[in-house]
Amino acid sequence: MHPNNQWLTEICEECGSAFSMILKEKLHEEQTPYQRIEIFETQTFGTVMMIDGFVMLTDRDNFIYHEMMAHPALFSHPKPANVLIIGGGDCGTVHEVLKHPEVEAVRQVDIDERVTRLSEQYFPKLCEFNDDRRVTFHFADGIDWVKNAPPNATQVIIVDSTDPIGPAEGLFKEGFYCDCFEALEDGGIIVHQSESPLFHLKDIIEPMRRALRRAGFRDTMTFHFPLCSYPSGWWTATLACKDKSIEFTRAQDATHKTFPTNYYNAAIHRACFAIPEFLTSQLGD
Ligand code: SAM
Repeated sequence: MHPNNQWLTEICEECGSAFSMILKEKLHEEQTPYQRIEIFETQTFGTVMMIDGFVMLTDRDNFIYHEMMAHPALFSHPKPANVLIIGGGDCGTVHEVLKHPEVEAVRQVDIDERVTRLSEQYFPKLCEFNDDRRVTFHFADGIDWVKNAPPNATQVIIVDSTDPIGPAEGLFKEGFYCDCFEALEDGGIIVHQSESPLFHLKDIIEPMRRALRRAGFRDTMTFHFPLCSYPSGWWTATLACKDKSIEFTRAQDATHKTFPTNYYNAAIHRACFAIPEFLTSQLGD
């Protein structure tokens, strides 16, 4: 390390690794009833939000995560009119969801309003569509919200959560997936960020897939994408469909998509489901 630089470091104890960015300054810090939120300015990753010491997003690479949380699920559903986002308070995922003209209504339920307010201040680009008449923001526990959601009324649920500790722990449990199953219409799809394929296969990805199947989901598929600022630089999300096999249903629409993206396209959609050898035996996709 250069001795004159100050470094912002996220330590992942369980992975035995750390990720550092050259720090310019700390812009904000607060403890909410749910978590500690910090905002930093860095030299090459721009503005960074950390929650409880873990990087949530950076200006530089958040587009990959947010596009992959939204578009593979939405282009797999024939008509994603009603979308529910659990978590996602930084608004990067809803920013991508709102690009789809087929989407008629999006509800975002994040437990912590401060994440959204700070994102409006420090990540205004991600929040530029927040006034779209199709979107409603609720600040509540997503676990309770889904328990009380109207049955068979939603086409796509996106779980853009923090790691399975603290308030997000229950979002990785079978009970939550059972409630999501009920809330989804037939043909409905859920997608949940499922952490690193290198570090979290046994303790997060496999249990998540089993829990989704036990909750009644007929098909599960895990896909992957690079993400420099998360542990191992490589991340996954897991898709499940209520009652059918997951297909690239709207491949034509993805090929001729009517909006710009910086990472996602139809070729990436197909490629992200190609499973490396060490995962095939574990995932069976
Ligand atoms: N991309 C990030 C990652 O994988 O590290 C996730 C970003 S997003 C900021 C995560 C959001 O999940 C946070 O805003 C947090 O408040 C929210 N969250 C955690 N537990 C929740 C719960 N039970 N219900 C609703 N939102 C929750």
